[in-house]
Amino acid sequence: MSDCLFCKIIAGEIPSAKVYEDEAVYAFRDIAPMAPVHVLVVPKVHIASADGVNAENSACVARIFEAIPKIAAAEGLTNGYRVITNCGEDACQTVKHLHFHILGGKPLPETMA
Ligand code: 5GP
Ligand code: ZN
Repeated sequence: MSDCLFCKIIAGEIPSAKVYEDEAVYAFRDIAPMAPVHVLVVPKVHIASADGVNAENSACVARIFEAIPKIAAAEGLTNGYRVITNCGEDACQTVKHLHFHILGGKPLPETMA
């Protein structure tokens, strides 16, 4: 999608601190980190949110979850980490391209809502 921030990052039109890439997945550091490690993992295909996942495009979600342990290991997250996706207005999703936050590098708060 031409007006999507993360599509532009994936295409290299906007710079990012890449931590992982394969044919289906791109991962980069969040510009406003909320933990010592804060990585965003996105599918290369544009899907607006978790609510847009379906039988036709769900393979990329599997690829993302195959990449996450590799990214976590590379980032040294041996003591655990959190994976979050915000979906829609009530969840405060700000970028409308499906993305999974990997947060770690410190003990994280117990509450999420
Ligand atoms: P959301 O609130 O949609 O779940 O998460 C969007 C995330 O994207 C936020 O954590 C925000 O800091 C991050 N973000 C927004 N714009 C940029 C950008 O231009 N570059 C990077 N690396 N992260 C961004
Ligand atoms: Zn996009």
